Parts: sequence; C-alpha cells; structure tokens
Amino acid sequence: MAAMDYDYDLFVVGAGSGGVRASRIAAELGARVAIAEEYRVGGTCVIRGCIPKKLMTYAAHYREDFADAAGFGWDVGETAFDWSHFRRNMQGEVDRLNRLYIETLESRGVTIYPERAVLEDAHTLRVGDRRITADTILVATGGTPNLPHIPGVEHAITSNEVFHLPELPRRLLVVGGGYIAVEFAGIFNGLGSAVTLAYRRSPILRGFDMDLRTRLQAAMQDKGVEVRCETNVTAIEKASDGLDVTLTTGETLTVDQILFAIGRRPNSEGLGLERAGVELDPSGAICVDDYSRTNVPNIWAVGDVTDRIALTPVAIKEGHAFALTRFGGEPVAPDHRHVASAVFSAPPLATVGLTEDEALDKLGDVDVYESDFRPLKHVVAGRDERSYVKLLVDPESDRVVGMHMLGPDAPEIIQGFAVALKNGLTKAGLDRTVAIHPTSAEEFVLMAKKAR
Ligand code: FAD
Ligand code: NDP
Repeated sequence: MAAMDYDYDLFVVGAGSGGVRASRIAAELGARVAIAEEYRVGGTCVIRGCIPKKLMTYAAHYREDFADAAGFGWDVGETAFDWSHFRRNMQGEVDRLNRLYIETLESRGVTIYPERAVLEDAHTLRVGDRRITADTILVATGGTPNLPHIPGVEHAITSNEVFHLPELPRRLLVVGGGYIAVEFAGIFNGLGSAVTLAYRRSPILRGFDMDLRTRLQAAMQDKGVEVRCETNVTAIEKASDGLDVTLTTGETLTVDQILFAIGRRPNSEGLGLERAGVELDPSGAICVDDYSRTNVPNIWAVGDVTDRIALTPVAIKEGHAFALTRFGGEPVAPDHRHVASAVFSAPPLATVGLTEDEALDKLGDVDVYESDFRPLKHVVAGRDERSYVKLLVDPESDRVVGMHMLGPDAPEIIQGFAVALKNGLTKAGLDRTVAIHPTSAEEFVLMAKKAR
C-alpha cells in the first residue's frame, strides 16, 4: 500500500510527554498525524505525576516556611491547611495545562481521538469503534503503578488516586523506598499527616549515592516521618477506625490511608502488540533500537513503555528524536548518558553522573570532595538541618564524573551543573570559576580539599 492510501502518516497511541512531543514535531514536518488518548491529554506527568506532585511539595513546604519566618522577625499567627481548597487550585492548574496541550496539538493539525486505541495489525488500529490505518505507528502508552498481591490491597491507593483524596489522611502509610514513596512521605508529613514509610531494604532510594541516601533518611526522620526499613506489608484489613496493616515484622499498624509506591510497569498489556508482532522483554517493556524503532519496521515506541529512563524529559527527547528520524530525514538517537534527576523529597536531592560506588567500580579510583554545611537561612531560622554536596573527579583525566546534592534548591542547582558536566566539566574548570556569594551552589566551586 502506498503511504497516501493510509488514513494517516503517523498514528500515536498515548498523549503523554513522549506522544505529544512526537505528534507536534511530526505534524510540523508535514506529516498527517492523529493521536489517541484514553484518559486525559498531557499524560502522567501533567495529569497525575510531576506537575500536581510539585505543587503538593510547594503546599507542604509552607509549614516550615511559617516556622522559619519567626527567626526573621515575622509573626505569622495561627496557620491552618485546607486540603480541599488546595486540591481545587491544584486541579485547576492541571486543567489549564490539559487545555494547553490540546490546543498545541490542534493548532498543528493533529487529530485527537479521546479513546483507547489498540493494534489489529502492523498498520491497523481499532480506535473506539473505528478502524484506522496508518503508515507509521508510535506506541507511547507510558506505565502504570504496581500493586502487591496481598489480602485487602483493594483498600490501598497508588499515585493515580493520591491527587483526588477526599480528605487529608490523619495517619498515612507509604510503602516503597523509591522516588514516589519518598516524595509523598515528605509531602504528607509537611501537610500535617502522621506518616510512616515502610521500605523492604535499607536505606531508602537504592541506586542513589549512599551519602545522600543515609542523610536524606535521617533528615526525613528528624522532620517526623517514621521510616521503617526492612519492613513490608503482608495484609490489610478494614477496621472500625481505619485500616489495620500487618507488617512483615509481625506488628500491626492502624492508619487511614495506604499509598503503594512500589514501582511502575510498562503499559503494554492488551494493546494488540502481539498481533502486530512487536517484541517485548520479560518485564513487558517494548524492545527498541537506539532510534526507538521496534522489530516491526513501521512501529516505534518511546517513553516509559520502553523502560529506558522513566523521566518526562527523557520521554520528550525520545519522542522528538523519533519525529526527526522518521519525518525529518535526519536520524537522531536520543542520548541517555548523564541524565540528571531530582527527588522532590523534603529536603530535596538532585544528582548527575556516577555515584561514588559506580565511579569506584568504573574507574578503579576516584577523588571525592564533599561539604556538609548549615545553609545561612537555616542558622537564623533556628533550623538544625544541614545540606550536603559531593563532587566526584576522575584523578586521571580531571573530569568531573558525578555531582550530588541534598538540601534546599538542589534540583535547581544541579540542573545548571548538569550542563557543564555533560559538556566535559573538569575540576580545574570548577576551580577557575568565581563563586556567587552567598549561595549554597558556591560550595561546588570552593571545594579545595579532597575528602578521600
Ligand atoms: P505518559 O505520560 O504516562 O503517557 C502515556 C499516555 O498514554 C497516558 O495518558 C495514557 O492514558 C495513554 N494511554 C495508554 N494506553 C493507551 C491506549 N491504549 N490508547 C490510548 N491512550 C493510551 N518524571 C520527571 O521527570 N519528573 C518528575 O517530577 C516526575 N514525577 C512523577 C510523579 C509521579 C507520581 C509519577 C507517577 C511519575 C512521575 N514522573 C516524573 C515520571 C513521568 O511522569 C513519566 O516518565 C512520563 O510521564 C512518561 O511519559 P510517557 O509519554 O512515556 O507516558
Ligand atoms: P521506583 O522504581 O523508583 O521505586 C520502587 C520502590 O518500590 C523501590 O524502593 C523498591 O524497592 C520498592 N518495591 C518494588 N517492589 C516491591 C514490593 N513488591 N514490595 C515492596 N516494595 C517494593 O518506583 P516509583 O514507583 O517510586 O516511581 C516510578 C518511576 O517514576 C521512578 O523510577 C522514576 O523513574 C519516575 N519518577 C520520577 C520522579 C522524579 O523525577 N522526581 C518522581 C516520581 C517518579 P527496591 O529498592 O528493593 O527494589
């Protein structure tokens, strides 16, 4: 069949971070594009991920801001948090962004089908009750939260529900020790819930630099989160005054809500991928090459459904690179090296490059510079909370191979340094840089003495 005989040049399944970017760029390059979305245009990040989550971190931080204000002479009087007021404003912003995403697609001539799409074969989709054909298909269906197979799990929630809670839980159990668990434990603690975090290993945030992990765990505990490591949940039962949770330690805990944040799996089930002959790995992720092409030449996949790095900016880069490769006559492979990331915990952390353990493994030897300090603002506020920065340098080349920070503004600070690291930053380059004073970021250009 010739390309013009298909209904569309490109059909995108899923209007999240990756799918929206790919559709927009492909349409700007002249392709006839359609996109299907079964929930809401914008996807996980905009509708029930990064954006409302970040707004919740702001809401939660006011508790400390009010307390700290006293050290600076302010009497803020009595304070109270109104969850339903905040939830309305948070959802208002989500609605605004949802409309903006729809406008972006429509203004580029992309046809939106507000329905579930499944593949019937390599060029045919079933979209609601229509059959639609396309020359190229892009699968950008994202991921979905995992739940454990334990009795009573139906009483628990995941991050999908957390933004719509009818009321703020008085007692919350968060299960997991990754990004989502750690972020929401901090958020609800800040908003006033009594939070317990249960993590099956120790310490939290496996995969991050150990100095950040141990320090963050201690800081969370200092702020009032009860962190229980080596602990998991075996059963949940509805009780008269909440939910009774049985832990692997044998104890029972009574809480009002349980949030499972135990990882996400690729959204590849029931999509008809097997009918089209698309290869999946054992975890259900779609296998793709460096350009995001599957084993079926006209089917491509980007974002969380490919389980490469599950972050929005990565899905966007993959979607953009796909569109340029397929419709721009310019093969572009998305670059997955040195991707910086942040955990919007309380306090937040951010990181780019290798951890100390990874650097030692990879290089055999590494120069470590670190600084543990109390930010100026905290001193006057009377807050006994410290920040930490760590720099890892390859002794042979002088190249900076890792930068890690825990403390206020860490995500904003590491974003800037990530540009430098990505472009070959050396320790000598940091030493040549004049500091901006007084900041926390200046610690990175003032580290004269090796810690080890
Ligand atoms: P998604 O954005 O998930 O979009 C996939 C879309 O496909 C969805 O809208 C879905 O409804 C739709 N869909 C699925 N199947 C079909 C079908 N058959 N037909 C039609 N539509 C379908 N990343 C960050 O970088 N920073 C953060 O701070 C951050 N915070 C997060 C917080 C939470 C609570 C969560 C859950 C994730 C967070 N992430 C964050 C991760 C980020 O949201 C994802 O990596 C990103 O959204 C992936 O984009 P995607 O395009 O692959 O998929
Ligand atoms: P993560 O993979 O980050 O963490 C999952 C956690 O759950 C780990 O601590 C894991 O433990 C634990 N776990 C896994 N299975 C079980 C089980 N059966 N019982 C108990 N605990 C279990 O997943 P998240 O759900 O937190 O987030 C998904 C992804 O979304 C992240 O990896 C990230 O890519 C993205 N994201 C990014 C954010 C950001 O950029 N700020 C914010 C939120 C999400 P163990 O360590 O033992 O494996």
